[in-house]
Amino acid sequence: MASLNFFAVPQKSIRKVQSYMNKDVLIIGGGIAGLTAALYAQRAGLSSVVFEKNVCGGQIVQSAEVENYPGLPSVDGPTLATAVWEQACGHGAEVIFDEAAAISLDGQDKSITTFSGDTYHGKAIIWAGGVKRRLLGCEGENRFTGKGVSYCATCDGAFFKGKTVAVVGGGNTALEDALVLAKLCEKVYLIHRRDTFRGEAVLAEAVKKQSNIELVLNAQVKKISGEGKVSSIDVSFTDGGSRSIEVSGVFVAIGLIPDTKLLEGIIELDDAGYIPAGEEGVTSIPGFFVAGDCRTKKLRQLITAASDGANAAQSALEYLRSI
Ligand SMILES: Cc1cc2nc3c(=O)[nH]c(=O)nc-3n(C[C@H](O)[C@H](O)[C@H](O)COP(=O)(O)OP(=O)(O)OC[C@H]3O[C@@H](n4cnc5c(N)ncnc54)[C@H](O)[C@@H]3O)c2cc1C
Repeated sequence: MASLNFFAVPQKSIRKVQSYMNKDVLIIGGGIAGLTAALYAQRAGLSSVVFEKNVCGGQIVQSAEVENYPGLPSVDGPTLATAVWEQACGHGAEVIFDEAAAISLDGQDKSITTFSGDTYHGKAIIWAGGVKRRLLGCEGENRFTGKGVSYCATCDGAFFKGKTVAVVGGGNTALEDALVLAKLCEKVYLIHRRDTFRGEAVLAEAVKKQSNIELVLNAQVKKISGEGKVSSIDVSFTDGGSRSIEVSGVFVAIGLIPDTKLLEGIIELDDAGYIPAGEEGVTSIPGFFVAGDCRTKKLRQLITAASDGANAAQSALEYLRSI
């Protein structure tokens, strides 16, 4: 793993705040989408400030290895996040480590109030709050996250080439993950707590036809075990039975939770809580834009988060020119 200078770098950007009360663009979320939005906003001559409630970089700081970011054949998440963070700050973006706790989107003077009680005004707001992964909650899950437990087959499937893995879930993501992994892995167990799938029938049929996918139905993962990395899981069945299965990887595909609770009642969200918007990030509220995993879209990845950030900043620029 490359050296993690992640926690050393951006101290210069952590300043206390009074002079930054008015900006062109307020950006909520310091993941790849939010930081890219800040980079593009600054380079377009706008002033921007990013609010981050945890660590800059977002979800990807949890990843030990990223292999699908163009131009970086292999990089760990914190190093990638730090590079984007430095790049945005290098162009003058500010980062404030505080949570956006209230938001006002009325009219041309928009504002957010943070958990600490400070209120910031901006002419436009970009929401880049990302998603949280739904967890299994079983024994061993936390211990083996990044050591065989993954929440993203697109991201990590290639690390399990030729191996045996389990996918947990019954929706479209689980079915798609099982099909993707079946092409890479020797064998895939698809573990689902019911006997029918929530996902589309066409995907369920494709899964059933795939000779190296074994369905383990009416079953729940109770424990993930191994020595340093995953080697087996224990499942229990609704009829009271149990089974131990040898696997090198466990792909948890039981859903994402968009971090959009604050927006409920302020803007229309889809049934799952995502903010409806196309790739330009334009929402139903003038001057309020969205970027990254929290918007309605098919592929939630770094590359699409970065692309969204750039697009949302461009949309904000055009909006600011128009008012
Ligand atoms: C373990 C793991 C491995 C992955 N591996 C890959 C990979 O190899 N390749 C790939 O392309 N993708 C990978 N992904 C997916 C990728 O990380 C995401 O698609 C990407 O991070 C989305 O970026 P984002 O900026 O939209 O959201 P996020 O990364 O979720 O960032 C959102 C940020 O907003 C902050 N936030 C939310 N609400 C508030 C608020 N109210 N106030 C202040 N801050 C707030 C959060 O703390 C978070 O830091 C992986 C994800 C995980 C979890």
